[in-house]
Amino acid sequence: MLELHAHTTYSYGTLELIELVEAAFQAGVRAFAITDHDTLSGWKEAFRAARNLEMEIVPGVELSTVHRDRSLHILGFYPDAGHARSMPASKD
Ligand SMILES: [Zn+2]
Repeated sequence: MLELHAHTTYSYGTLELIELVEAAFQAGVRAFAITDHDTLSGWKEAFRAARNLEMEIVPGVELSTVHRDRSLHILGFYPDAGHARSMPASKD
């Protein structure tokens, strides 16, 4: 079973990351994405929490954006945590 949209206390969730990983595993989840809002925090904890479980952790994030004055949330998976926050201006 997959769960690809979950929040911990790093954003709007009610469970700490380790509690959430354990609860998901107990519920039968075997591929689990932590998609906290606007943060990549918690991935290392998630990998540690799941290392002895038959569960794949999918690194994720949920971006809070606005489109035409409406809130729009975008899920992303496997973001590059080492990517620079801003790119140099193009010379073209
Ligand atoms: Zn969400």
